[in-house]
Amino acid sequence: MKISKVWLDEKSKKCIVCGLCQLIAPEVFKVGNKTTVNQKANFNLFKVEIKDAAESCPQNVIKIDERK
Ligand code: SF4
Repeated sequence: MKISKVWLDEKSKKCIVCGLCQLIAPEVFKVGNKTTVNQKANFNLFKVEIKDAAESCPQNVIKIDERK
């Protein structure tokens, strides 16, 4: 499975900018005034980290789309 898309569930506005996702996958997540996903990152190089960040996010706002 390849990660084709990574995004934040913005509708929920629940991200508390805790910084955990950036700590786990700094190449993919940037946390400042708000959290953003670096869409230029090669998600498949950081698959483990992205999944770990999504699972670790206390607000469960990191979403991943996986394709074969
Ligand atoms: S881990 Fe979740 S709540 Fe924390 S900054 Fe990242 S997206 Fe926001």
